Amino acid sequence: TLINKNEYHYESTWLHEASAGTREYQDCLYPIASVLNQSKVDFVTAEVTKINKDEKTVETTKGTFNFDILVVALGFESETFGITGMKEHAFQIENINTARRIATHIEERFAHYANSTDKDDKDLAILVGGAGFTGIELLGELAERIPELCKEYNIDQSKVKVTCVEAAPKMLPMFSETLVKYVVDYLEARGVEFKIATPIVAANENGFVVKVDEKEEQLYANTVIWAAGVRGSKLMEESFDGVKRGRIVVREDLRIDGYDDIFVIGDCSAVMAGEGDNKRPLPTTAQLAMQQGEFTADAVKRLLNNEKLATFEYDDKGTVCSLGSHDGVGVVFGKEITGKKAAFMKKLIDTRALFKIGGTGVAFKKGKFL
Ligand code: NAD
Repeated sequence: TLINKNEYHYESTWLHEASAGTREYQDCLYPIASVLNQSKVDFVTAEVTKINKDEKTVETTKGTFNFDILVVALGFESETFGITGMKEHAFQIENINTARRIATHIEERFAHYANSTDKDDKDLAILVGGAGFTGIELLGELAERIPELCKEYNIDQSKVKVTCVEAAPKMLPMFSETLVKYVVDYLEARGVEFKIATPIVAANENGFVVKVDEKEEQLYANTVIWAAGVRGSKLMEESFDGVKRGRIVVREDLRIDGYDDIFVIGDCSAVMAGEGDNKRPLPTTAQLAMQQGEFTADAVKRLLNNEKLATFEYDDKGTVCSLGSHDGVGVVFGKEITGKKAAFMKKLIDTRALFKIGGTGVAFKKGKFL
């Protein structure tokens, strides 16, 4: 039985595109029923409200289900770290609906600016919190979308102000200085301003409040987007012990301690890597989640056949960060790539993910090469 809140599945790795408006939200999703063999899987559209690990039940908006084996794959939510006003005043890139709202809001502000007599410059100001992969990929899409909007609404592009605020002194620490420079040069050339080593301490109706030299400073914008943190589902804390930011440490076979019948995968799981003091959870990525999914399907089969479970080993093939649809940077099989090559690689990765779930049908309909 597969239980999911929506009838559709959206590619959460494409939300930056739906948020900027460079991809229609409908093109980021497909009906779940269309990729299931329904003679083998009962698909229930319902929201999970509670997991009772000891009673072996899952409560949902459509009743309670018993389980013999449970796979928890509830995904991510935005994490605002309790920053004052962030939930109320900033958009979150959390799901397809929050992404849609951002794209609509940006367009509405541009239209408002174009049609009003007392022009408010804040309508053309966009603040992005966080220069992690989500923040950077969003900026890449905005760099593509803004010229289109300016053309559509007859707005002088030099009046648009996109500012990215990042707390850490160095962005994208997993990339070499050459790749980070490529990203910064690319985005700055398209009008993005970076404020590095600048923590956001609050959000309000005017924008972000940041800390500069121990003093608070107000940054103004009518579009404020928080892209500076994710966590696993809140249901995790309500259902399990030892959960941190919605993530629970899983064993080598992706089951959780004390429960041989419960697997946790994706953004709700913490797969530990490294030795001793350097032991840390792997970053939650689509690549990791997909490998966990395949491993777990096999593990469930083994469990039903009373066979020994294998050990999950993450095979890191690299990372590609897009900069709009025609550019990007990345490290693939240990080799650094930039430009069109990286953009091509990203499209290949995105289309491969669709193919793995829905075969050629979904890959053709929603893939990124047609
Ligand atoms: P993240 O946690 O990786 O990055 C958040 C950024 O926000 C960090 O640089 C952090 O320093 C900054 N930040 C946090 N608090 C701040 C504050 N108060 N003020 C200013 N800046 C602040 O989050 P993410 O970018 O959403 O990524 C989440 C996960 O998804 C990561 O594991 C990432 O690798 C993965 N991801 C991968 C890709 C890709 O492979 N192309 C794309 C998107 C996300």
